[in-house]
Amino acid sequence: MKILNNGQLTILDIDKKVTLYGFVANKRKMGKLIFVDLRDRWGITQLVIKNKIKNFSKESILKVVGKVKERKDKNPNLKTGEIEIIVENIEILSFAKQLPFIIQDELEAKEDTRMHHRYLDLRRPIITNKIVIRHKFNKAIRYFLDNLDFLEIETPSLSKPTPEGARDFLVLTRKKDHFFALPQSPQIYKQLLMCSGFEKYFQIAKVFRDEDSRKDRQPEFTQLDLEMSYANEEDVQKIIEKMFKFVFKKLNKEIKIPFKRINYLEAIEKYGVDSPDIRFECFLYEVTKMFRNSSFNLFKNSSSVKFIHCYEILTKKQILQLKEVAMKNGSKNLIWGFIDNNYEGPAYKFFKNEMKLIEKKFNLNKGTFLFIGDNYKLTTKSLGAIRIKLNEFFNWTKNKNDELVWILNWPLFEYDENLKKYIPSHHPFTSPTKDSIKDFDLNKNKAKARAYDIVMNGYEIGSGSVRISNLEIQKRMFEAIGLNKQEYNQKFGFFLESFNYGFPPHAGIALGIDRIVMLLTNSKSIREVIAFPKNPNGIAVMEKSPTKIIEKN
Ligand code: ASP
Repeated sequence: MKILNNGQLTILDIDKKVTLYGFVANKRKMGKLIFVDLRDRWGITQLVIKNKIKNFSKESILKVVGKVKERKDKNPNLKTGEIEIIVENIEILSFAKQLPFIIQDELEAKEDTRMHHRYLDLRRPIITNKIVIRHKFNKAIRYFLDNLDFLEIETPSLSKPTPEGARDFLVLTRKKDHFFALPQSPQIYKQLLMCSGFEKYFQIAKVFRDEDSRKDRQPEFTQLDLEMSYANEEDVQKIIEKMFKFVFKKLNKEIKIPFKRINYLEAIEKYGVDSPDIRFECFLYEVTKMFRNSSFNLFKNSSSVKFIHCYEILTKKQILQLKEVAMKNGSKNLIWGFIDNNYEGPAYKFFKNEMKLIEKKFNLNKGTFLFIGDNYKLTTKSLGAIRIKLNEFFNWTKNKNDELVWILNWPLFEYDENLKKYIPSHHPFTSPTKDSIKDFDLNKNKAKARAYDIVMNGYEIGSGSVRISNLEIQKRMFEAIGLNKQEYNQKFGFFLESFNYGFPPHAGIALGIDRIVMLLTNSKSIREVIAFPKNPNGIAVMEKSPTKIIEKN
C-alpha cells in the first residue's frame, strides 16, 4: 500500500529512505541527471535520477525508492519545494502513450476533447482541487447537520413522477409498458419522512430533470435536501445561514450572517430578476409615467418603461451585444443614449425632453442610459439580463465578497403563457400564506406562498417552503393547478392518504450543491465540479450515451 504522498515531505524528513508512487508530471534532462516531478492528488515531489535511467514518458506511473535530500535551488511555490529525492531504485508500473492533451492547469483543448478523456482531465491539479473542495463541502454539511441531530436518510431513485416543473426521465422495466420515473426531487418522500416521525431529515441526493443544459444546469445533479417538522420559514433560514457560516469557515472563507432578505417583487423591480446579484448596483429605474404624454410613441404606448444607467461609456459593439441580449429576452426595444462630452444616441434624438427630465430627477449627468419599453415582464427580464451582461463587460464584481440573499414573499402561482394556465411558482406542496388560504384557488394571481429562495452571487442556489400539511388544502391546491379528483388520486393518492394519520406541520429546503461548489471554486460551469458531467447538449461524450434502444424480438 502507498504510505507517503507527494505533497508531504519537508526539510524535517532529510535523509529518510522513502518509497513514492505517482504520475510523471514533468521530466527534464540536465547532463547526466534526470529531474522528474512526481505527481499525485496531494502534490508534486522532485526526483533526481542518476544511474538508474530508464525510458519512460510523461504520465507514466512510477514507484521509486530513494533518500530525501535538501535542495540547492528551493522552490517556495511548492509544499515540498525544499527537498528532493535521490532515487536509488525505480520501477515503471505503467507506461503512458502520447496523451490527447497536456495535463496542466492552463489548457487550450476543447471541452469535448477533455470530456472524452475526463479521467485525464481530472488529473489536472486545478480540476482535482475542485473535486477535493466538493468533498470537503459535503463532509462539512454532514458534520454540521449530524451535530444538530439531523438524520441522513436515502430515498428511492426508481419512483413515480415528482412535479418540479421539468420533464421526467423514465426507466423502462421488464414489465411491458411499465416504467419508473427518476425523481426530480425527493420532495414527496421527505414529507412522508416527516409523517413517519423522523422530524429532522437531510440527504445529499442525486436528482434528475430532463431539461436543456446550461452552464448551471445538468440533467442529473446533486441537492442537499432537508426537511424539519414543527418548523417555520425562519427556522429553516437560520439553520441554513449557520450551516453556510460553518462550511465557509471549513473552506477558509468568511460569510456574514444573517443574509439580506429581499421581497420577490422588489427584486424584480430593482434588479429585473428573481435571483439578483446584489454585489453591484446599477438598478432598474421606473419611468413609465414620464412617457405618458411623450411624442415617442413606442414608449408612450408601452405599459412599462424602465432604464438602467452606468457611468461607463459603452462602445457601439457593446450596444449591439446588449441589443442581442434584449432580443433573446423577448424585447426589441432597446434605446440608448450617452452623456460624455456630448449628448449622443437615439434617446437624445427621439425623446430629448424626457431625457432632460430624467437626468434631473435621478441626478445622472454622465454615462450610458439603456431604456426598454414593453410589458412589465419583458421590460424587467430584458433589463435584468442587460444588467448581468454589463457586469460581464466591466467586471464590477471582481474581488467582491460572496453575497447570499433570501428572496421572500413569492407568488403562489405564475401564469404560463404557453400552457395558458396557472402553474405553481415552486411546487404544489407549498403552503399558501395565512392571508391567501381562504381564496388562493379563486384569486390565483394574488395568492402568496410561504416560500423562500436563496441566491448566491446572482445564482439561485436553493429554494424551499413551509408545506401544506392539511388534506383539504392539499386537494384544493391540486385542483387549482388543473388536476381533477381522479387525476390527483391516481398521481398522489398514496401521499394524500398519509394526511389522514397525523401529519406534523413541516418546512424544508433543497440547495444545489453543484452550483454552490461552482461558485466557491470560481468555476465557469457546474460541469467543472462534477466528476463525470454531461456536455451542454446533455450527452455523456466519453460513454457516448444516451444510446438508442434496440428492440430484441
Ligand atoms: N423540492 C424542491 C426543489 O427541488 C425544494 C424544496 O421545496 O424543498 O426545488
